[in-house]
Amino acid sequence: MQQRIVVVGAGFGGLEVVKGLAGAPVDITFIDRRNHHLFQPLLYQVATASLATSEIAWPIRSLVWDRPGVTTVLANVTGVDAKRRLVLLEDGATVPYDTLVLATGARHAYFGHDEWEPYALGLKTLEDATTIRRRILVAFERAEQEADPEKQAALLTFVIVGAGPTGVELAGTIAELARDTLPREFRNIDTGRARVVLIEAGQRVLAGFPEDLSDYALRSLRKLGVEVELGRAVSDCSADSVTYGDIRLATRTIIWVAGVRASPAAEWLGAPADRVGRIQVMPDLTVPGHPEIFAIGDTVTVNGPDGKPAPGIAPAAKQEGRYVAAVIKQRLRGDAEPQPFHYRHQGSLAQIGKRRAVIDFGWMRLRGALAWWLWGIAHIYFLIGSRARLSVAINWLWVHARNQRSARLITQGEAQIESPENPTAKGAVKANSPLG
Ligand SMILES: Cc1cc2nc3c(=O)[nH]c(=O)nc-3n(C[C@H](O)[C@H](O)[C@H](O)COP(=O)(O)OP(=O)(O)OC[C@H]3O[C@@H](n4cnc5c(N)ncnc54)[C@H](O)[C@@H]3O)c2cc1C
Repeated sequence: MQQRIVVVGAGFGGLEVVKGLAGAPVDITFIDRRNHHLFQPLLYQVATASLATSEIAWPIRSLVWDRPGVTTVLANVTGVDAKRRLVLLEDGATVPYDTLVLATGARHAYFGHDEWEPYALGLKTLEDATTIRRRILVAFERAEQEADPEKQAALLTFVIVGAGPTGVELAGTIAELARDTLPREFRNIDTGRARVVLIEAGQRVLAGFPEDLSDYALRSLRKLGVEVELGRAVSDCSADSVTYGDIRLATRTIIWVAGVRASPAAEWLGAPADRVGRIQVMPDLTVPGHPEIFAIGDTVTVNGPDGKPAPGIAPAAKQEGRYVAAVIKQRLRGDAEPQPFHYRHQGSLAQIGKRRAVIDFGWMRLRGALAWWLWGIAHIYFLIGSRARLSVAINWLWVHARNQRSARLITQGEAQIESPENPTAKGAVKANSPLG
């Protein structure tokens, strides 16, 4: 019998393991609770109506159809019985393994304030993105019909918490949607008056970037009309307001991109974890005490030889996935133990708005229009398949040239409009439902 490899999670890390094992004499079971692989870096473009869901997600089966040794399973993993080498599924079934790879990612977290979740929408899945899109578009619709100026102002106030790359990208794009795309279509309101407020507890936006690029991003956001509030932590979120510092701001739309929590993989194994639940894996990415279990991507933390942890970004997950596939193949051949995993940083990118982006390659920094073009080319390159690449490129050209955003559809409900007070109104999909 061939080695049974079970890979849990078809995100960036898991997919890379499966790709890397092509040609190896193994049987692979590829488990995910969703039927698609998702390109999370462009989720914010779905949330802001620039791209459609099918442009950034692909059915997992379609990615491995030509690999007879790979069996795809749609299931929610709820635990691991490491003694009996079984993966436990929600429906009570089990999947046996000889080697297990956990690549189950992370979710947004509210720093111990889970009660904020119904009001402060996280962005991690396609459902999250379409829920945010719905909330933004419905806010404009309701503002158009609202006679009370205070309520109208609250509807036209969009708050983003967390000024990392996703927060900056969301803020810039919502500002452009309000100022460039929507004004000519509304009769009673000037959508250009919408307030986009980006709140950050730290002292600068894009804190992971060099200071000059952070400063450029801050100036660019302000040019777009985004109000940036630095050095103030959010202390409360409710259906109609957000409180930060000593300010209570009336709003009906809060988007939360401020924190993450790892998947519960560490709990499944009783493995050592850091404060956000990431497994502290060994230098060869195995779980301590379990040489037959690897864990990779956002659900782990691993220090490089320089003592720095690999960041929670797609290239790190992909490099870890490739490394694990190589180790498994080495073991099958009976070769010597591998060198420890070594993360290589290729660069950090963030888009701020049309024709504005920042890139830090380490050895070179770019900003402005050139960075924006490179950002676009890099993202198109990393999409899967020519259809998605072409379709995204055309959509971006349309946004660029004509300010049109094709995916401005309010879905997941009929006349019943989901509101922050009633987040699960008839027909509305709960933001965190694992299967939508
Ligand atoms: C909004 C957003 C923007 C981002 N932007 C960037 C960016 O610009 N550049 C960048 O490099 N990185 C970016 N990232 C980070 C990047 O997406 C992650 O680092 C990367 O996805 C991690 O890969 P992964 O394989 O560990 O996890 P994921 O890609 O998250 O994959 C995890 C998979 O596991 C599945 N899964 C989870 N739990 C279970 C379970 N119990 N049972 C079955 N299946 C399960 C999930 O359905 C998912 O398919 C962004 C992330 C987000 C959320």
